[in-house]
This record gives sequence, C-alpha cells and structure tokens, in this order.
Amino acid sequence: MTIDQYNFNGKKAIVRVDFNVPLDENGNITDDTRIRGALPTLKKILADGGSLIIMSHMGKPKGKVNPKMSLSQIKDAVAKALGTEVEFAEDCATAADKAAALKPGQVLLLENLRFHPEEEGKPVGIDKADPAYDAAKKEMKEKQKEFAKTLASYADVYVNDAFGTAHRRHASTAVIADYFDADSKMLGYLMEKEVKAVDNILSDIKRPFTAIMGGSKVSTKIGIIENLMDKVDNLILCGGMTYTFAKALGGEVGKSICEEDKLDLALDIIKKAKEKGVNLVLGIDCVAADDFSNDANTMVVSSKEIPAEWEGLDAGPETRKLFANAIKGAKTILWNGPAGVFEFDNFTAGSRAIADAVVEATENGAFSLVGGGDSVACVNKFGLADKVSYVSTGGGALLEAIEGKVLPGVAAIKG
Ligand code: AMP
Repeated sequence: MTIDQYNFNGKKAIVRVDFNVPLDENGNITDDTRIRGALPTLKKILADGGSLIIMSHMGKPKGKVNPKMSLSQIKDAVAKALGTEVEFAEDCATAADKAAALKPGQVLLLENLRFHPEEEGKPVGIDKADPAYDAAKKEMKEKQKEFAKTLASYADVYVNDAFGTAHRRHASTAVIADYFDADSKMLGYLMEKEVKAVDNILSDIKRPFTAIMGGSKVSTKIGIIENLMDKVDNLILCGGMTYTFAKALGGEVGKSICEEDKLDLALDIIKKAKEKGVNLVLGIDCVAADDFSNDANTMVVSSKEIPAEWEGLDAGPETRKLFANAIKGAKTILWNGPAGVFEFDNFTAGSRAIADAVVEATENGAFSLVGGGDSVACVNKFGLADKVSYVSTGGGALLEAIEGKVLPGVAAIKG
C-alpha cells in the first residue's frame, strides 16, 4: 500500500515521525526542518478526513521520564505548522481514551516514546556482561511487543515517516507494523522520497558516479566506503581522514587528526581502488593551522609534509581543483562529510569547492544526494540546499542504507 493510494477518510492514523528537533535552553525549537519534513504526510491524512495520532522520540531519555525531553514543548509548533489544535497525551502508553475520542480532522500528539524502555527494547540497569543479561533482554523484547501492540490499538492504519530512525528496530518504527495488515501500513511521503533517493544512488546509477566521503575519521565510514567501491567511478576521500592516508603513504602529518591503527586499512582501500579501477582522489595539499581555532595562523603545505606543530584543517587549492574536476562531469553524486573543519569560517574553502561543483553538476543534469550529519549542516551554511537534487534527513539511517543494509523501518512495511 502506498500513502497516495490510501483514503484516510474516517480512519485513525498513527504516524511515526522524527520530531527529535533541537531545542534551546528555554525549550524553543532552533531548527524545525524535521517538523516541516513530515507535513506533507500529516496534511494528506487530515485533508482526506482522517484523524492523526503523532508519535516520536526526542533525545535520549534512556527509558525514563525527563521533562527536558518532553514533546509537550513542541505541541504549539506542531499545531501552528498543521494549522489546527493539537491534543497532548502525557503518557504514550495510556492514551487509548484520548485516541478513541478523536474525530476526523483532530490531532493527538503522544509524549516521548523513549520515556518507556520498551520503545528501544533494550534492558535497562543491567550490564551486557551480566549472566542475567540475555534473560532480561528476552523479557524486554516481550514487553516491547506488548508496548507496540498498545500503540497499534489506538489506530486503524500505521504510517512510518521517520527516516532518521528507520535503521532501528524499535517498537514504533518496526515492531508495531506486525499489528497491521499489509493494506493498513505504509511509508509516509518523506520516507518514500528518502528510499527513492537511496535507490537512485544504489541501483539506478547514471555514470560517471562520484562519491565524496569526508568528515573526521575513516573508521566510521569504512563500511560505506567498501560498499561504494563496487559502484563508483570516482571516490573522493577528504576531511580528517586525508591524514590517515597521508601517513600511511609515508607522509608527515604533524598534529593532524590521524588514526594510527587504521594505516593498513588506508593502504588496503588504495589497493582495492586500483584493483576495481576506481579513480581514488586524495588531497595533495592542505591548509594547515598552528591551532585548532578559526583564528589560527595558516599556511598551504603538501598533505604529506605538515610541520610537527601544525595540523591540516582544510583542503588546499590544488586539492580543491582535483575535487572539482572529479565532480563536475559526474551524473550521479553522493556527498557525505565535509572536506575540512567547516564550522570555522576560515576553513570552509574545501567544502565550498565541493558544494559549488556539486551544484554545477546538478545544473548540468546530475542526480546529487547530500546527507548524513554534517554535510547537511554544511550545504545549509552555504545556502545551497535547494540547489542539489536531494538533501537527506537521515544520518545513520542514510549511511546504513547506502552500506547496503536493509532498514528495519522499511522492511517492516515492505516485507
Ligand atoms: P563526521 O561526523 O565524521 O562526518 O565528521 C564531521 C566533522 O569532521 C566536522 O565536525 C568537521 O569539523 C570535522 N573535520 C573535517 N575535516 C577535519 C580535519 N581536517 N581535522 C579535524 N576535523 C575535521
């Protein structure tokens, strides 16, 4: 079943969204992207004449009630975004009466799902090494099913629109789907778009395909790098991981971020790229700084000849040209992770060069997907988010999907 095919008229829909929005110390929302992302799905349900039960997590309360992570703080913002009043259920596990009372067009927001440990399904207060852990885990999995069943009992139909948590097998993201038949569960519009974007990258590839992997460490990106090696024509590795490669190739990297225990891994990646005919693009020069700060003194040096007290914080001018050349002619582009410490205005040039080249390629017909944590903040900082084909809302979920893993949140609905 797809959301477009379904008529919600007279139905109660329980929708898992990702309203894990950042709040300031007064509980004000500092970025409402995630709320706006779910609106097409929520509005379609209301426009059809359905009623809405909205559920989400916020933060990591670890199974305990924590007022700082209460979704009551965002109730008014949700009401404003939907243009209608929103009722609030202070405990998501005992909201049956409020759900039953909903009339078409009415909205109920449930309190943070993660106030209940059953949502995540992990036993609390017991160490993994404890001999009783396995039994506790088994018991918690049973409780998770009960919790999911309770949530399911509120509604006629289940919609999952929370891509950000689709890589988790939680009560509200996956287990709940077992309590709805195939015609009464579906992905929301945001999830559909995310799944389609990943599909463009993994199966519907127009060549050349350039992937740009940046960020701080190679160790957190190795799964995805290995998966991409079989698919891409050009692989740009940038950001902090540059220096692990430079060191592995015999260079001096000064105080640059470097994973000493990943030098063999770096050499292995270089070897595999050669074997597979992938054009691996590594930085050759960098902007080095004498301090990890925006106001540090800087100089451009070879990435393999960084003086002892200096550290590479951005891609150098020659490297930027190499990156741009590998991006401009591409027809499929994936970008995850910045090319430097873009949070400091003086070290944005590498990421900026990538962003500009991605925008140019997109204007020339490429499909470009930007996603996974900091790369989104980076394109937002440059004001270029609407000039690429797709900006993913998922961090871990996007990376796992591109690694080729099946996302439990998607599998629970599509089988
Ligand atoms: P990740 O979460 O792994 O995608 O890493 C993103 C972070 O990597 C950002 O906060 C960047 O500031 C950081 N980063 C990028 N390049 C460097 C670098 N050369 N040295 C230290 N950190 C970096």
